[in-house]
Order: sequence, then C-alpha cells, then structure tokens
Amino acid sequence: MRKILIVGAGQSGLQLALGLQSQGYEVTLMSNRTADEIRTGRVMSTQCMFHTALEHERELQLGFWESQAPRIEGLGLSVAAPDSTRAVDWVGRLNGFAQSVDQRVKMAGWMETFAQRGGQLVIHGAAVSDLDYFSRTYDLVMVSAGKGELVSMFSRDAARSPYDAPQRALSVAYVHGLAPRPEHPDFDAVRCNLVPGVGELFIMPTLTTSGRADILFWEGVPGGPLDVFQGIKDPAEHLAKTLELMERFLPWEYARATKVELTDANGTLAGRYAPTVRKPVGRLPGGGLVLGVGDVVVANDPITGQGSNTASKCAHSYLHSIIEHGDREFDAAWMQAAFDRHWEKTQHVVRWTNAMLAPPPEHVLNLIGAGGQFQPVADRFANAFDDPADLDAFFFEPDRTNAYLAEVAAAARA
Ligand SMILES: Cc1cc2nc3c(=O)[nH]c(=O)nc-3n(C[C@H](O)[C@H](O)[C@H](O)COP(=O)(O)OP(=O)(O)OC[C@H]3O[C@@H](n4cnc5c(N)ncnc54)[C@H](O)[C@@H]3O)c2cc1C
Repeated sequence: MRKILIVGAGQSGLQLALGLQSQGYEVTLMSNRTADEIRTGRVMSTQCMFHTALEHERELQLGFWESQAPRIEGLGLSVAAPDSTRAVDWVGRLNGFAQSVDQRVKMAGWMETFAQRGGQLVIHGAAVSDLDYFSRTYDLVMVSAGKGELVSMFSRDAARSPYDAPQRALSVAYVHGLAPRPEHPDFDAVRCNLVPGVGELFIMPTLTTSGRADILFWEGVPGGPLDVFQGIKDPAEHLAKTLELMERFLPWEYARATKVELTDANGTLAGRYAPTVRKPVGRLPGGGLVLGVGDVVVANDPITGQGSNTASKCAHSYLHSIIEHGDREFDAAWMQAAFDRHWEKTQHVVRWTNAMLAPPPEHVLNLIGAGGQFQPVADRFANAFDDPADLDAFFFEPDRTNAYLAEVAAAARA
C-alpha cells in the first residue's frame, strides 16, 4: 500500500491520518509532542466546530466525545452601545448543533487511537532537512504543522492575503462556574459580543480535561484597550484582566461571570497572527515536494471561528483527492489540484473572515440589526457559520443585503 507521511498532529493532520489509515494506507504521523504532553499542556484554541465539519469527523467514526460535549444549538450576537447597553441582541438557531471539544482532549485521544490502530507515530519536531530525506522514501509528504516554523516552506499568496499584520490580539480563558445566559438558559449557544472599534468577546461552552466548561475569548483591535494580555504570565492575573474588561465593556456578560474560576493553570492563552493564505506546494532544498494542509495553507483569524472547521474540511477534501488518485504519482500538478478543490469552498471563509476584521459597512450594520427584528435573519446568519458560501447571497454586496432584507420584511408582513 502507498506510504504517506503527515507532519503535525492537529485537527487536519490527525483527521487525515486516521482517514487514510482506515482506507489501508501506510501512514506515519510525526508530532512534536506526545499525547500526554498535549493533554496536560496549554489550551490552543476555542475550536467550536459546526455541523458540516462534525459530519466529516462522524463519517470516520471519530466523534468520540459527542455525547459528553455540550450541544451548541444557537449563535447569539450582541453589539455594545457607547453607554455599554446592548444596541443589538439576538440568537439564531443552528440547523445542526455545533460542539467544542478542547483540542487537548481531542488531539491526545485521536493520537492514541491512531497508534492503537497500528499507525506509526513518531515524536519528533520535524525540520526541513528531515523532510528532504523523507520525501524520497514516502509516496506523499503532507505538512499539517499549523502556524509553526515549517510554514516557511510555503510562499505567501499575496493576492489572497489582504493583511500582512495581525488584526486582533487574542486572549482566551477556560473557566468553570459561568452562569447560563439569562435570556435562553434552556439551550447552549455561542455568544458573540461586538464592541465597535475595540474588539469582540466570544463565549462558548466546551468539553475540557475537567469536564464541561466555558471559554471567554477576547479579540482586541491591536493597540486598543483589549490589547493588554501579551506580557501577563500569571493565569490568575490573566483571568482578572479578562473579567475587568468584561465589566467595563460588556456588563451583561460580566454579570454571569462573577463566580468563575480557571479550569486549570494551563487554561489561558494569548497571542496574535496575521491571517495568511499560502501556496500549497512546498519545494524542498533537495527537490522533493510537500503538500500543505490546514492552517499551513489557509490561516484565518479566529474572529469567525472557522480554522478548525476549515482544517476538517481540508482533511476531508484531501482524503478524497488522494483516494481518487489511485496509484498515480503525487506530483506538483496533483497537489495544486487537490488544494484548488479545497479552495473552491474555503475562499468564502477567507473572504468573510477578512471582511469581519474591518469596520462593518452600513449594509452589514443593517443586516446585524435586522437579526433582532426578524428571526429568519438571525437564523440565516447563524447557519452561515456552518456554510459561509451562503453569505454571497446576502452579506457582501449592499444591493443583495437590501434585497434580502426587503424580502424578509415583506414575508413578515404577509
Ligand atoms: C484563540 C484561538 C481560537 C480559535 N477558535 C476557533 C474556533 O472556535 N473554531 C475554529 O474552527 N477554529 C478556531 N481556531 C483556529 C483553529 O484552532 C486552527 O485553525 C486549527 O487548530 C488548525 O488546525 P491544523 O491541524 O491546521 O493546525 P494545528 O491545530 O495548529 O496543529 C498543528 C500541530 O502540528 C504540531 N507541529 C508544529 N510544528 C511541528 C513540527 N515541526 N513537527 C511536528 N509537529 C509540529 C503542533 O504542535 C500541532 O500539534 C482558533 C484559534 C485560536 C488561536
């Protein structure tokens, strides 16, 4: 059977490795950390995944935590007014539920499953020189090493990367003890809170190493009042700062957070990165070729919660491209075609995510406001997190937004 090397054991690399393994490929997975190091290490993401991406996992029988993780059935959006009241507030219902399983739980569990099923797991931080050697001994080498140093093998696609610097400072705290949303305590939802000109706070339930928890995730405009986490080393100080900013900008969310405590000493994260699309084929110094996967090729800012979803969709798409290619050579043309097939869908995610990082134009403000008046608008917006291609019809162009809102208003009158 064909020999495939995958470098990087995150959402995309592991899903692809387990998928190829189930099809009988001889897969080697290289990870710079053991399962235990991942499980006991720092949180990495908020990793909320929507229906389509979860379906890709289910197709491979990988939804191990589905019955334990909270079912996220809605997505709510609030906009803070200058006096810190809510200018906008609505919750859209998702057609299929979303879930967040702490990557520490999921990646550690999937790695162990891969090894138990006979996969070759190599614990080693791969360098470009290693890949040069391996590209001669494997039929295909794929790099799914996230935003780490190996991305230097893949050139930035400037035409598809409008930003060359981070657009948000990110800060995450995993907590126990958050009270339910008073408006809808009967079902779980992601809460998106927009503070114009300042940033966003996302709150979502998750399954972490100590059971159910909630994540408080600030995205701050660089240089603004939320961009204050970079130097904080003490997790308690990180949480205190998170709460102080909630009290100042989003008092309705702070009101249910007064009793929270961190899930664990590694339950905080701070960082930033520039959203970047890269060319998918990396050429090694010795002439070998490698194919980029997941964040290596498309790294979006997490403002729209799409990275893990995109990583899952990439793994799904590449799996099919590999299987359909049979015994033929995995050359540069095939690699480019495999990526183009993924890009066909992912371009919508990139366009939307980059748009959300900029100040919203008037028609988008109207659309967001209309979610509070018309439930179909709230529902459609919420479900676009699962299928961002739908946004083409009503989000980007003022004419389309206006036509859609007129249609919804007419239907409500009828
Ligand atoms: C704060 C934050 C919040 C987020 N929230 C969401 C969300 O709610 N929803 C969503 O869909 N996405 C979210 N994302 C994005 C999501 O986490 C990533 O897009 C996703 O994890 C990418 O998966 P990946 O497999 O491409 O890379 P990764 O998950 O980064 O995995 C890469 C793996 O490769 C390993 N590695 C790196 N270098 C090497 C090397 N040289 N050799 C061997 N192994 C190596 C790393 O240790 C890691 O295990 C968020 C991201 C952040 C930072």
